[in-house]
Amino acid sequence: MIRYILFDLDNTLYPLRSGMEDALQRRILDYVRRFLELPLEEARRVRNEGISRHGTTLEWLMHEKGLTDIDRYYAAVHPEGEENDLAIDPDLRPFLERLPVPKAILTNSPKEHSDRILKKLAIADLFTHVFDMRWNGNQGKPLPAAFYRALEVLGSSPAETLFIDDYPRYVKGYIALGGRGILLDEQDANPDFPYPRIRDLRELTAFLDR
Ligand SMILES: [Mg+2]
Repeated sequence: MIRYILFDLDNTLYPLRSGMEDALQRRILDYVRRFLELPLEEARRVRNEGISRHGTTLEWLMHEKGLTDIDRYYAAVHPEGEENDLAIDPDLRPFLERLPVPKAILTNSPKEHSDRILKKLAIADLFTHVFDMRWNGNQGKPLPAAFYRALEVLGSSPAETLFIDDYPRYVKGYIALGGRGILLDEQDANPDFPYPRIRDLRELTAFLDR
């Protein structure tokens, strides 16, 4: 029985095709390039290699490259106005309102980002909690602690909490805890994903009564 739904934010509560992700990835890579003083392609290579060991670029830079100014990193990758081009889906809010269980958000982004996005989408009031990266001590998904901290506050177990995210690693990490996880794979990029996978957010209702 599902008692709570825990949503990822980016590319989950708005579509991947919004262009937000491309712009974010460009800013992250640019930060890595400047921070490590590397040419762009070398920065891309070391980042790809580094994040295979960590959940996020931030954690990789903190734990392996000596980054300490977390606020500066966040300000660079999540500048004011980042949400300006995000389109509003008029069906999103009614869909979320119809869901029969309470909802929360677990994001690997900082609060200033989640606040902007939720305000733009006009859905902030529909979630009981927004667990952001700072709240989680800058320890993000897929670390078990990131999930458990949120679940403890919600008073819900992994088996009673449906988690939906567009990152296969994060969904796998949650399922490894005994959680009910679903991959949102809008573009059918992960056909071999061995666990539940949907192409549209609205398909998640099929998992609520299982
Ligand atoms: Mg996401």
